[in-house]
Amino acid sequence: MSEHSVEVVAEFGELNFRFVCNAPAGSPCRRRPADPDVEEWDDTYPGEIIMDGECWAVEWVSNLGWEAIRPEHDGTYVSIPVAISYEARDAYRRSKTAK
Ligand SMILES: [Zn+2]
Repeated sequence: MSEHSVEVVAEFGELNFRFVCNAPAGSPCRRRPADPDVEEWDDTYPGEIIMDGECWAVEWVSNLGWEAIRPEHDGTYVSIPVAISYEARDAYRRSKTAK
């Protein structure tokens, strides 16, 4: 299982996508300097490192959007049963007749 994944969530009648981190504490994406003002660091950083901080990838995706990620493999991952509302069908019919 990948340490990062996208969940498809049905909430209040809408489908939403959620980027989540499943990595355990100590994973590279969960390590952060204890000093919140430090934005860049590497293995040579001399300060204290928090091992179970908030995942930097989650923060990155929330800032950059879905363009920041890509699937590991092509293909269909899930098939979700959906209901079609009358308004959606009516809008489709109107768009087809407008041409
Ligand atoms: Zn992560």
